[in-house]
Amino acid sequence: MKKNLVKQEKIELYAPRTEEREIPKGKLGLIFCKECEAVYYKKSWHHNLRNYKKLKENLPVNFSLCPACQMIKNKQFEGEIIVKNVPEKIKKDLINLIKAFSQKAYERDPMDRLIAIKETKEGTRITTTENQLAVKLAKKIKDVFKKVNMKISYSPQPSDVVYIKLTFN
Ligand SMILES: [Zn+2]
Repeated sequence: MKKNLVKQEKIELYAPRTEEREIPKGKLGLIFCKECEAVYYKKSWHHNLRNYKKLKENLPVNFSLCPACQMIKNKQFEGEIIVKNVPEKIKKDLINLIKAFSQKAYERDPMDRLIAIKETKEGTRITTTENQLAVKLAKKIKDVFKKVNMKISYSPQPSDVVYIKLTFN
């Protein structure tokens, strides 16, 4: 419930930036994402209409980008994890863990997404569309692989981007 509220705030926050994203407040209807399968109704984004009971045929329908697709399109992210000193022998397991964890999160909430995993000079860089997803994923990595130091820093308000450094020692 709380999460839905956060989502709604976010949508309103993002809405004024481009005309395309104008989502009339409180307007009844559906918004289909043009990029993915997400559908907006009842104040949050869903994977599909399966749980929309009493679907009315005359509901207004709009097409737009969902916040996750918009963020990816804008090359933005809300969570960043840099994993340093990853031992070669666990690299594959680490990548598999990241993908499986993010997939589960996505199944729960279509706005929770892994954007990319990239090898950089600093280490393995993971970006996500939600800061809490990054935090949970970083904690999971630390739990699974043990000898990992974690440092979390949030960017100043009103931004809610989280930067996490994980270092294998
Ligand atoms: Zn989308």
